[in-house]
Amino acid sequence: MLVLMIFDSSCAGCHRPGPVLCRTCRFVLAAPPAMPASGDVIAAVPFVGRPREVLLNFKYGNRRQLGHHLAGLVVNRLVANGVGPSEIDVVTWAPTSAKRRHRRGFDQAELVARRVALQLGVPCRRLLRRDGAAPPQTGLDRATRLHGPAFTASPAARGRRVLVVDDVVTTGSTLRSATHALRLAGAVDVVKSAVATTPAIVADRRRVPVRPLARRAASPTVVPGPRAA
Ligand SMILES: [Zn+2]
Repeated sequence: MLVLMIFDSSCAGCHRPGPVLCRTCRFVLAAPPAMPASGDVIAAVPFVGRPREVLLNFKYGNRRQLGHHLAGLVVNRLVANGVGPSEIDVVTWAPTSAKRRHRRGFDQAELVARRVALQLGVPCRRLLRRDGAAPPQTGLDRATRLHGPAFTASPAARGRRVLVVDDVVTTGSTLRSATHALRLAGAVDVVKSAVATTPAIVADRRRVPVRPLARRAASPTVVPGPRAA
């Protein structure tokens, strides 16, 4: 981590000096194990190993240059799942809290969403606003983790088929809240996508033994089933 802060020219996946993402890590990210559907979230990579390392560097290491590459992975996965430019009217994102945005200097979900929209050739709009401006108490943070933040969607969502993008999906509660708000505002279809999902969701889907940590995250959120067409 210290190395990262001193030399910006190292790989976000393996920390070797060089480009922001080395050739080896590019291949690892582009050819991840087949991703089972995580509930109804279309995710590009599992949040483990090298993909996790890259995502953490993107999120906390201020590696904005990775946005384009990560968006490419999302677009590939979307298209593989039958979601192309003709299925989507507008791309949006689940905004992070103002506090986090301020701390990181950017909203990583917005950055990926804008790149995804660009690559799909579809407009990107800020359609979601987080409710409750200042909820930084620990109790509220915990509630937010369990039930997801509340969002309000813009009336501009009415009649639109919306692709909502997030960076890392853990419980799925954020995207579920975002979808609820978009539907309330009149969106006719909402496709949920993410760069990565945690193994808890994947594990649940594959019915492998669930570890204690995974159980907590997976139980209230995973609704197995095909993505709504
Ligand atoms: Zn690397």
